[in-house]
Amino acid sequence: PAATASAATSPEPYPTTHEQISKPLDTQNFIDNQFVASQATQWIDLHDPATNSLVTRVPQSTDAELKAAVESAQKAFPAWKAQSVLARQQVMFKYVALIRQHWDRLAASITLEQGKTFADAKGDVLRGLQVAETACGITTQITGEVLEVAKDMETRSYREPLGVVAAICPFNFPAMIPLWSIPIATVTGNTIIVKPSERDPGAMMILAELAEKAGFPPGVVNVIHGSARAVDFILDEPLIKAVSFVGSNKAGEYIYQRASANGKRVQANLGAKNHALVSPDCNKNHALNAIAGAAFGAAGQRCMALSTVVMVGETKDWVGEIAERAKALKMDGGFEEGSDLEEGATIMLDGRGKKPEKYPNGNWVGPTLIANVKPHMRCYTEEIFGPVLVCINVDTIDEAIDLINANEYGNGVAIFTRSGSTATRFQREIEAGQIGINVPIPVPLPTFSFSGNKKSVAGGGANTFYGKPGLAFYTQAKTVTSLWRAEDAVATKASVNMPT
Ligand code: NAD
Repeated sequence: PAATASAATSPEPYPTTHEQISKPLDTQNFIDNQFVASQATQWIDLHDPATNSLVTRVPQSTDAELKAAVESAQKAFPAWKAQSVLARQQVMFKYVALIRQHWDRLAASITLEQGKTFADAKGDVLRGLQVAETACGITTQITGEVLEVAKDMETRSYREPLGVVAAICPFNFPAMIPLWSIPIATVTGNTIIVKPSERDPGAMMILAELAEKAGFPPGVVNVIHGSARAVDFILDEPLIKAVSFVGSNKAGEYIYQRASANGKRVQANLGAKNHALVSPDCNKNHALNAIAGAAFGAAGQRCMALSTVVMVGETKDWVGEIAERAKALKMDGGFEEGSDLEEGATIMLDGRGKKPEKYPNGNWVGPTLIANVKPHMRCYTEEIFGPVLVCINVDTIDEAIDLINANEYGNGVAIFTRSGSTATRFQREIEAGQIGINVPIPVPLPTFSFSGNKKSVAGGGANTFYGKPGLAFYTQAKTVTSLWRAEDAVATKASVNMPT
């Protein structure tokens, strides 16, 4: 996937060394297609996690700025809705081309602010870009239905945009997650306000710049900043009709409840504790490599990271080999060639206290592996969201399935086996939204939907992101029933009965 975006194709230079970030520029709001300096009195310092040098200051956007964003989005809505779907599709084509052109620049911003490796940051951009690419097919995706329901009478269905919608995003995928919302919301005729994570808004600011270049009219895409207060504003603002949230359970459960109580549609993807079941009949080398990559890649800070391995029977003896693979991963700054890991957050194999020589001031945790874990232990019951893999031993596949189903989270799960019947049974009986069979991180491409389950989604997962449910989320169904027939056939007397 990286083949078409190299430094040579990027139209603008981007900083790749920490020395180039000597003078931090304050992050701005983006309202009405303009970058505007915030008048905030409170600012959040954003540090490069590899060096802890200051990258930028992020404003707590003021009430006036938050209101200006909503007014801008509301004002833009009628004309944007009235544009033909073909016109909106053309803007989306240009947006896709520009994101592809600025791929490296977006990825560099992510590495600087979030810390993941440059190669991984390119994947972050790509997975969002794919949502935008899929949204370009809107002309066939949004067609309604029509049925002649009685003689001379037909019912047609349409899908119409909601109005102003908002997206509240997490820090771990600064490009992909805003792009789970922006393309689908806008191509269907909504206008959107994005509140990126206050920990890494840089990629979203580039996406805003590209939205203007692509031809989105002023007000269709707006960006504001802040934390809990800005979120509360979004949740309480009556003009905002729908809220998309991705992040932790703590914030998400609150956001779901408050936004729903205010009559808004909400889609909310939350935390996870994803299991990998290792069956003794699996392809061992493939399974162990896949698990080490999926547990420790991106410092374990993916909602689909495999953070628990359930080792069935004799596979418990393979734990040392997982540790060997984990030790072989190179921990380094995200821009360094060949680095596999970056900063993280927590505990043992033991990753604590490890630092690459070149980055003594950064925030680092090496791969950490905890073996012989019991299900009641805190390292198993809580989402750690760092490069930490916990290993639980069980004797049978049945026991493994029961253990995984008893976990309150249900985002992703993987099984490693060569047996078709074991895999089939697993996929039928397991209670998780996204299942990988010999695939470690089975995030579906955007033609499907991101199907979390249990505590990993708010509201029972009725409104999932992208795919057909994503399109339904950002549109209101309308049905029109019409009767056209010769005048002589029309009844002359009023009827008070339901037609039978
Ligand atoms: P977070 O919940 O701390 O922050 C997400 C957003 O919510 C940010 O924009 C933040 O400003 C806002 N926020 C935080 N606390 C708030 C509060 N008390 N009130 C109102 N708003 C608040 O999450 P994070 O640390 O940025 O992201 C990591 C989490 O996101 C993990 O739990 C991970 O599993 C989850 N995640 C889930 C998915 C998924 O699709 N299921 C994808 C990515 C990340």
